[in-house]
Amino acid sequence: MSECSHDCSNCSKDCAEKKDLKAKLNEFSKVKKVIGIVSGKGGVGKSLVTSLLAITANKLGYKTAILDADITGPSIPKMFGITEKAYTEDGKNIYPAKSINGIKVMSVNLLLENDSDPVIWRGPVIAGVVKQFWTDVIWEDVDYMFVDMPPGTGDVPLTVFQSLPVDGIIVVTSPQQLVSMIVGKAAKMAKLMNIKIDGIVENMAYFKCPDCNKIVNIFGESKLEEIAKEYGIENYLRIPFDTEIASLSDQGKIEDTKVDLTEIFNKL
Ligand code: ADP
Repeated sequence: MSECSHDCSNCSKDCAEKKDLKAKLNEFSKVKKVIGIVSGKGGVGKSLVTSLLAITANKLGYKTAILDADITGPSIPKMFGITEKAYTEDGKNIYPAKSINGIKVMSVNLLLENDSDPVIWRGPVIAGVVKQFWTDVIWEDVDYMFVDMPPGTGDVPLTVFQSLPVDGIIVVTSPQQLVSMIVGKAAKMAKLMNIKIDGIVENMAYFKCPDCNKIVNIFGESKLEEIAKEYGIENYLRIPFDTEIASLSDQGKIEDTKVDLTEIFNKL
């Protein structure tokens, strides 16, 4: 291709060079569908939504896995109370950890000696680790793999997108963010990567008073429906701020939650 700049990050063509960027799946694995969970910034509940989607899929009887690609802010093992480390027999192939209900999990925290050790790596190294999670981990048969993506639309999430065969993405926002802008950025990135947006989740959207059941829109009226329509996305959901979610996450018991994302999952 004469016009090729070899900068695949800005190219929408699906050529051979671009395909080479994709990591090879481990020979003992078969992963049917890969869903990336993205957000405009950290702290909006991306890991929570990743966990809830996996819990929902698992409850519905699908073989489910979570690849924690949020390398500098890994919170999946903590939410599931996983303290064991990843296991290897030959020093090459790695076995993922399993949650109480059998969700397979791989995260950089399963490789670190101490959970609190910071990961101070540059973008290419981070992307390399995510590729290894795809190539060196024996996932075996997986129906749905949910990938907790690094936040934002910068270099790192972009490289991770190019490394993994993501089928679709779920955008997580919180109402105090400039939701339209965040969804717009995600939509543009998805288009660039030839990936479709499978849904939007507005997290911490409102609060239901436990005494009188009154619903309080803490950050004002939601614009979620309007924005979803603007981008032609039919699959969207609001999750309330819920003190039980916060405490179950902190205790590593997120699988005990009553919050169910079947409504979103069924339209994936
Ligand atoms: P991110 O992955 O976007 O950085 P997390 O999923 O780690 O965000 O969530 C950040 C914090 O907010 C966590 O402590 C989580 O338990 C809490 N949290 C997320 N969503 C909710 C919610 N709907 N209700 C209560 N707490 C929440």
